[in-house]
Amino acid sequence: QEDLFKNVVSHAKEYGFIFPSSEIYDGLSAVYDYAQNGVELKKNIREYWWKAMVQMHENIVGLDAAILMHPTTWKASGHVDAFNDPLIDNKDSKKRYRADVLVEEHREKINVKINAEIEKAQKRFGDAFDEKQFRETNPNVVRRQNQIDEISTRLAQVQADGDLEGFRQLIVDLGIVCPVSGTTNWTEVKQFNLMFGTKLGASAENAMDLYLRPETAQGIFVNFLNVQKTGRMKIPFGIAQTGKAFRNEIVARQFIFRMREFEQMEMQFFVKPGEEMKWYEYWKTTRLNWHLSLGLGKQNYRFHDHEKLAHYANAAADIEFNFPFGFKELEGIHSRTDFDLKAHEQYSGKKLQYFDNETNSNYVPYVVETSVGLDRMFLAVFATSLKEETLEDGSTRTVLALPSVLAPTKAAVLPLVKKDGLPEVAQSIIDDLKWDFNVAYDEKDAVGRRYRRQDALGTPFCITVDHQTLEDKTVTIRHRDSMKQDRVAISELRNIINNEVSV
Ligand code: ATP
Repeated sequence: QEDLFKNVVSHAKEYGFIFPSSEIYDGLSAVYDYAQNGVELKKNIREYWWKAMVQMHENIVGLDAAILMHPTTWKASGHVDAFNDPLIDNKDSKKRYRADVLVEEHREKINVKINAEIEKAQKRFGDAFDEKQFRETNPNVVRRQNQIDEISTRLAQVQADGDLEGFRQLIVDLGIVCPVSGTTNWTEVKQFNLMFGTKLGASAENAMDLYLRPETAQGIFVNFLNVQKTGRMKIPFGIAQTGKAFRNEIVARQFIFRMREFEQMEMQFFVKPGEEMKWYEYWKTTRLNWHLSLGLGKQNYRFHDHEKLAHYANAAADIEFNFPFGFKELEGIHSRTDFDLKAHEQYSGKKLQYFDNETNSNYVPYVVETSVGLDRMFLAVFATSLKEETLEDGSTRTVLALPSVLAPTKAAVLPLVKKDGLPEVAQSIIDDLKWDFNVAYDEKDAVGRRYRRQDALGTPFCITVDHQTLEDKTVTIRHRDSMKQDRVAISELRNIINNEVSV
């Protein structure tokens, strides 16, 4: 698994998807730049989300609120007082860790052992294997599952109570060692606010303290009534937004999984109080289906229902994805009640209420939120698509089998040789197709090597122009995944590509 993850990181760099930020100065930890191919993949994921959320729902509209907001926003939202992570230092290595992440990683290690045990048994018993029965009766699995349950209960308890000493005790009791020093010599657990501060204004006396937004959601809440009135929106309705968010994360490992500057795709759905559970269930199902539509494999997703709820929520679940380092949160679905709108009413002194024509009454709507990290989506798609295949002749190829709709480049046009007018024909095909798709041109190296390069970039089609093309206006079109080649008329190309890459 570790090797797989290293491959993902190096492939992303080598093929122009992701670079460390300001790399010539040795980079900035947990900050990354999207390169020429990465920016296309990222844009396509964003558009795929936007289409499903805004274009396909008549009652959802978009918004692009500013990153900088009035500082009182973050008092009202609770971020100034409560947006904290519990941190713990190891006395020997002087390394700092998130206490909750240490415990979760420890729990996940036990889970990995259970899964290995199950896999082994599956191989041994074949079709006769009954996983449920095995989980309930195998003594090793039962013991480990009990450990997991106990850890979860204790973690939820110390988090709910804000019991920092209890947190430390839990880490000590589990015998968790520092990955760097290998010792269990911990300091106390302390709270640390994750918001980045900045200043507005030139002179020191008049400067106003601002924060870079740690989530996009608040831009939607403060605009709730503006959008509702000008759009004549009727409840239930949603406001969707994509944009940057900033968090001063401490455990900033795992590549683009946990970044200090990242992008969110959020939707706030405003509903009648009392109907929030219906909509919460609706959005859980709808969002999981959106993920499944990408075809990365059903087994890679699971729900994690929260036992410990944030101060604003009455129900919350994560959609977890099987990343190269195990199952982790990809998207959150939260029933946020009327907490945010009521808080903004209180702090601003302005009414944020919906007037219901049918009942002739005002109320503060309840909110169900779906919030997915664009960068985490990128990692999920990229890591799962990256494959090392052994071919029939025993050779291997690296293929980035991206869902075609998300691929940065849809087709590469390759003249077989650099002469006899073939490059010109290739260029004319590109000039025609580029109105509809991202297409690339490549004439360097033997055609087999060019195919491999496009496989590694995730390009679904390679179109090869050869001498026969000059005679009958046909080309070969090669499919990335099957490597099958067909001879088709140039005039058919647009349709063939379109059928494959459109939603
Ligand atoms: P985590 O527990 O992993 O820190 P969170 O519960 O704080 O995440 P939310 O506040 O619910 O996350 O944010 C919604 C989504 O934004 C997450 O599901 C995740 O996909 C994304 N996200 C949050 N923090 C980061 C980050 N530091 N880097 C990249 N994506 C992030």
